[in-house]
Amino acid sequence: MLDADFFRRWMTVTTASVDREADRLTALDSPIGDADHGSNLRRGFTAVSTVLEKEAPETPGAVLVLAGRQLISTVGGASGPLYGTLLRRTGKALGDAAEVDEARFAEALRAGVDAVMQLGGAAPGDKTMIDALVPAVDALSHGFGAARVAAEQGAEATTPLQARKGRASYLGERSIGHQDPGATSAALLIAALTDADSDTHTDKE
Ligand code: ADP
Ligand code: MG
Repeated sequence: MLDADFFRRWMTVTTASVDREADRLTALDSPIGDADHGSNLRRGFTAVSTVLEKEAPETPGAVLVLAGRQLISTVGGASGPLYGTLLRRTGKALGDAAEVDEARFAEALRAGVDAVMQLGGAAPGDKTMIDALVPAVDALSHGFGAARVAAEQGAEATTPLQARKGRASYLGERSIGHQDPGATSAALLIAALTDADSDTHTDKE
């Protein structure tokens, strides 16, 4: 079962990994964007980790709702409201259960991804974070490891695509040949699930 501690760890591990990869995310955002994706997410997730430590929400849903709200209020770029919506909507779908199983989490994350698609209007194949998130959610019934692989493959598969949403879409065909920064950070977020999970070691199940 996944408890509030697990979801806090998910956010902390994501913060560390975004921090470590910020330069790469920003480098990916320079040919097809405005070179701020790494710094946007670093600022956002650092604020998430800080507020989670301060307020210590007690349920999985409350952790994600607070994290999402913090991203929305801290990140100016497109990715802030989108990731914020992802986490907030996922958190809302988890309700106020003290623990959730992986199937329930997968269902909630699907609701979160649907909300991102509704907010941003992107579909799979538009060269956005959706191209990592949708395959990840589809694979989640096979475990966090499978979701991670699916998200990483989804992010890599954005390279030959032409962007149809967000800043990169202004470039038209010139967006082809570059991996999407948001799909890359989405893969980091999903990969962090396996690390948050392996940190549980003992007394799981
Ligand atoms: P900005 O584009 O405002 O500078 P960021 O650089 O932080 O914001 O984030 C860019 C990423 O956001 C893109 O690589 C893409 O994955 C994602 N993105 C942009 N617009 C959308 C959208 N409408 N739907 C889904 N994802 C989007
Ligand atoms: Mg940008």
